Amino acid sequence: METETHRPRVALIAHDHKKDDMVRLAREFRDALAGCTLMATGTTGGRLKNEVGLQVECLLSGPMGGDLQIGARLATGEVDAVVFLRDPMTPQPHEPDINALVRACDVHDVPCATNLSSGRMLLRALLGSA
Ligand code: PGA
Repeated sequence: METETHRPRVALIAHDHKKDDMVRLAREFRDALAGCTLMATGTTGGRLKNEVGLQVECLLSGPMGGDLQIGARLATGEVDAVVFLRDPMTPQPHEPDINALVRACDVHDVPCATNLSSGRMLLRALLGSA
């Protein structure tokens, strides 16, 4: 019980053009991430399960409300860190949801990395060296 409550709870989200980067990042931190409670939007989570072998709770796909589900958890103190690899070059149909999630991170002071190098820094700070 005690141990369970201290497992870092990390949310992982990647837009389509950034999913390869997310898989790469998760492979780098695989052992450390295996000790976390992980949640992800649907497609991202599926790739992390299948290609990295991590246990991940898969929420809805981002465009179907997955970002909002993570935002809601974050607002109630259930997420310790977010790695959200956004694609700045492609318009997203769920842009309002994306903004809501990043805003929720700022409102609740939850660390949120939005690109590969800051994601690496965040995970290193949270979990130690890869
Ligand atoms: P996905 O959602 O992991 O289901 O692709 C990510 C997103 O587009 O927000």
